[in-house]
Amino acid sequence: MRLLSGWFSKAARPLPWRTDPRDPYPSLVSEFMLQQTQVSRVLEKFGPFLKQFGSLRALAGASEAEVLAAWSGLGYYRRARLLHACAKAAARQHGGRIPRDIEELRELPGVGRYTAGAIASIVFGDKHPIVDGNVCRVLQRLEAREGHAGGKDVVGWAWKRAEVLVGLTARGKEVAAFNEGLMELGATVCLPGTPRCDECPLAIECEARRVGAQRRIPAPKPRSPRRRVFHNCLIVRSETGELLIEKRPGKGLWASMWQAPTIETDGAALDSVGELLRELRLPLKGLKLENEKPENSVFHTTHRAVHFSVWKARMTGRIGAGRTRRWAKPAELDSLALANAHRRLLLDS
Ligand code: SF4
Repeated sequence: MRLLSGWFSKAARPLPWRTDPRDPYPSLVSEFMLQQTQVSRVLEKFGPFLKQFGSLRALAGASEAEVLAAWSGLGYYRRARLLHACAKAAARQHGGRIPRDIEELRELPGVGRYTAGAIASIVFGDKHPIVDGNVCRVLQRLEAREGHAGGKDVVGWAWKRAEVLVGLTARGKEVAAFNEGLMELGATVCLPGTPRCDECPLAIECEARRVGAQRRIPAPKPRSPRRRVFHNCLIVRSETGELLIEKRPGKGLWASMWQAPTIETDGAALDSVGELLRELRLPLKGLKLENEKPENSVFHTTHRAVHFSVWKARMTGRIGAGRTRRWAKPAELDSLALANAHRRLLLDS
């Protein structure tokens, strides 16, 4: 325990939410942003987000469109909606404070066992365990626990081990340094492919290293095949250079985000641009197609392979806007909530 907290006090990366003392609100925002997103990407967005929504109350009082636009580029927009809902609930139920009690934390939208444990232990110094992918890997290696990363039995085992270990720490800064130290070790030293055992403060206690199994543990997660979806898109530019955009449905992939006019299909792309124009129900008058064949590309999300078939057109006049469609200047796209793949398509057009 001491080895880990001593190492963490020297090796911790200077991240903007790691203030002393910890401020609960920025810590909460960072926890939501860091779920499934690399620190480098979060660092680009964290400062501007906090500048725009400087307090939990400010975030609670913002519109969903403002929050999604500020989140743009981080992906997994469901987290942005949950963070927004969490801020509203904390403003309503806790007077704009983030509660300390673990049960009250867990009642907030989007706050699961991990996030509640992280806030309770790292911000408030209470003895609660945390297990994410990094922590699970470190614990598995320390005890040479076989099993694949993310496996239900392994994760259950890791929570129990983390609970025992955190119970041995003293309440307060030691708890915080232990939990965050384990996460940091997993993120910077005990890496998934090739752990840097020579730099590890826990090397003398590590069973996987002792038996030479550190690269084999944990076993890789069995992959489930990605679902294929097809986005048949028409990028329409007006004579004045504006782009036609539309809002996606409120559920599913990239819910409520803006995109180029698109018809989504399963199994295969649409057969022809004529079919796409019919499905989009765009006025044909004044519309001039620019390519004879679609431009094809593939964008991968965690669960899907999105195949793009992109057509481009010029439109004289600015018709085509409606309940879910509008014209936008290219410079405006930065302040709108767009899925990254659609932003790239529109800006590259
Ligand atoms: S010794 Fe190597 S495998 Fe063991 S915890 Fe440290 S970095 Fe990970």
